[in-house]
Amino acid sequence: MPTYHIHIKGIVQGVGFRPLVCQLAIAKQLKGWVCNDTDGVHIEFRAEDYEAKDFYEKILQNAPQNALIQQHNFYNTNDKEFEDFRIIASRTSTPPDLLLTPDIAICENCKAEVENTENRRHHYAFTTCLQCGPRYSIIKELPYDRERTTMAQYPMCDECTIEYSNINNRRHYSQTNSCPNCAIPIHLYNSEKEKITDDAKKIIQLAQQYFNAGKILAVKGIGGYLLMCDASNPLPIKLLRERKQRPAKPFAVMYNNMKTIEADVIVREVEKEALLSKEAPIVLCEMRESKSSSLQKDLIAPGLDKLGVFLPYTPLLKLITSKFKKPLIATSGNLSGSPIIYEDDEATNWLSSFADYLISFDREIVTPQDDSLVQFSASAKRIILRRSRGLAPNYFPNPFYSSKPLLAMGAELKSAFALLDKNLFISQFLGDQESYESQESYKISLQHLQELLRIVPQKILIDKHPNYNVSLLGKELAASRNVPLIEVQHHVAHFCAVLAENNLLNSDEKILGVIWDGTGYGDDGQIWGGEFFTFNTGGIERIAHLQYFPQLMGDKMSKEPRLSALAVCKANPEIVKNNFSNEELDLYTKQMQRNNLYTSSMGRFLDGIASLLGISHQNSYEGEAAMKLEAAARACKTKHSDYYDIFYDGNVLSWKEMIEGVVADKSNNFEIMYIARKVFVSLVRMIELVAKNNKIKKIAFSGGVFQNVFLIDLIEDILSDVYELVFHQLLSSNDECISFGQLAFDRLNAQGRRIKNGDIHSCRKKVL
Ligand SMILES: [Zn+2]
Ligand SMILES: [Zn+2]
Repeated sequence: MPTYHIHIKGIVQGVGFRPLVCQLAIAKQLKGWVCNDTDGVHIEFRAEDYEAKDFYEKILQNAPQNALIQQHNFYNTNDKEFEDFRIIASRTSTPPDLLLTPDIAICENCKAEVENTENRRHHYAFTTCLQCGPRYSIIKELPYDRERTTMAQYPMCDECTIEYSNINNRRHYSQTNSCPNCAIPIHLYNSEKEKITDDAKKIIQLAQQYFNAGKILAVKGIGGYLLMCDASNPLPIKLLRERKQRPAKPFAVMYNNMKTIEADVIVREVEKEALLSKEAPIVLCEMRESKSSSLQKDLIAPGLDKLGVFLPYTPLLKLITSKFKKPLIATSGNLSGSPIIYEDDEATNWLSSFADYLISFDREIVTPQDDSLVQFSASAKRIILRRSRGLAPNYFPNPFYSSKPLLAMGAELKSAFALLDKNLFISQFLGDQESYESQESYKISLQHLQELLRIVPQKILIDKHPNYNVSLLGKELAASRNVPLIEVQHHVAHFCAVLAENNLLNSDEKILGVIWDGTGYGDDGQIWGGEFFTFNTGGIERIAHLQYFPQLMGDKMSKEPRLSALAVCKANPEIVKNNFSNEELDLYTKQMQRNNLYTSSMGRFLDGIASLLGISHQNSYEGEAAMKLEAAARACKTKHSDYYDIFYDGNVLSWKEMIEGVVADKSNNFEIMYIARKVFVSLVRMIELVAKNNKIKKIAFSGGVFQNVFLIDLIEDILSDVYELVFHQLLSSNDECISFGQLAFDRLNAQGRRIKNGDIHSCRKKVL
């Protein structure tokens, strides 16, 4: 009888692959072994030819539900003798070559167990099985086995060991197995850092009492601590806003089950699927108008018409929400702008100033992750707003080939780095790199992933912005390792990202890239953000941009939409004078006269319009004015197609008439909702104008502005009959996709495509 070897690559560890193989082999009375290695799962066995092929096919057909098979091989090997079939010790025979299993939300079976009074895991807050539980957040080294995770220090009790050893048990070989007998210690502290109890059942009970009494609790989740409070009680919500220094940014709300979610928001089929998925992200859904709900909508999402909702994704969160029954605010445990707190010491030190009580447990988190955030367009297209827990770090299938490992540093705001070796990894959302804490968190995550995958980058890609902290770090790394450093223009990276995501890097067709965002350093030293590029066999070229307007007061401009309004009304500042004191107006007007820094940012332009419409003059969080303008446009009762005139001279898209139109409509007392919709229709007409003039039929979109689902719906409504429209699908359109775009740019260069890297000379500069 010959001996065979099977090798399977992909997401094949921590998903129940070895137990499955074992079960199939024993059913077939085969002898041999299965094991995890640093390059996937290996199987060796003896069988007759026909039987071996059948076994191979059965494995592929019955692959565990959370597995993702990337590659599989089957071949004859040297004859060997085996006594039985077994799972043998994991090996580390090659450099890592596998995808990382993300954390998986609690499965239905485990949910049923923790709620079943007869079950031995009734009320056990760390119930997991082969199908669910923490993975990426607890792994320290590869391959995946308990001893290389933060579960290592919690030995299984006898009963758990019996489950673990039983081939027919759903916890056979489950590396995260534990139960109330061999429990992971859990603790409840007050804000004085004094321990109240270690009794798990009591903790859940007390949590309910605290929520009822209007208290704020910090609760350890999968990727870090969450701050939670009763979503129907205004007092703790106001207090949480004060303590977090987060006056208006919307909070996400966690519900016990789908039924309670559906009472507050409209859940479409596609949204339901996402909520119930193993990634269990926060999903932005349209709020119901019903007055019966006790939810404090105006405090939770002031001025917005959508609410971020999600379901508990760990048994602990499930127990807490089940017991409390009402919806709970659940937001990352951090100060606004800082990374999520995930270490227990830090949590007890810092979160005591945010929370009245803290629920902690001893299983460490290795990789901090926020909750992922998604929404869906009218056509059910998924729009990722934040890619983190459950979605990061795998990017599969990998569209790039490189003979050497590469590191792309990404952008400063909404940062995420990318590592390309045999596989491609894009880190979880790492926040804005302005604060020291964020920079440290970025460095730790980068180091962890490099060590885990044993990747030593041989080239480093950075954004061209001279002052990005991540670019400076990239420069330092390149210098210390003596490897090449490549700078990539921000919007070119965006365009390359959406092309690569849609496998268009090899396309011969001419494609229009509409790249609209807040800020990116342009090749002419100005701040770009309302850009049009073309891609064809000749490479990438910047063919048009939004008419420049003054860039005022550096970063302050993105925080104060009234400054954008002033900049687009430079010729007639009278219009906006009521939004400033005389001194301010005088100062800013003088600055505009002296100013020689300009921007074509679509983000700032829309801020300006939001301010002109009186929607928002000062942003208390990033994107506030834009989100409120979107909500206003969506609220427009007539689905009209009116738009403002836009002039295009072949290079520059002039908005002068549009601003005049907005001001006129407002003074003629048109409804704000009507005008907001008209603005977005005009933007779609702007895109159409450029596409038509350049005779292009395929349009790709990237940049933070395309997180606006109202705009995407309009684009699809108006343009999809005539144009082929290409959007991001696996990544966010905001700067989280920049590192991926930097890699795409580099791979494009490696293919020998000529990049006219956003050549300003082909696009005449026109300013006010
Ligand atoms: Zn489970
Ligand atoms: Zn146990």
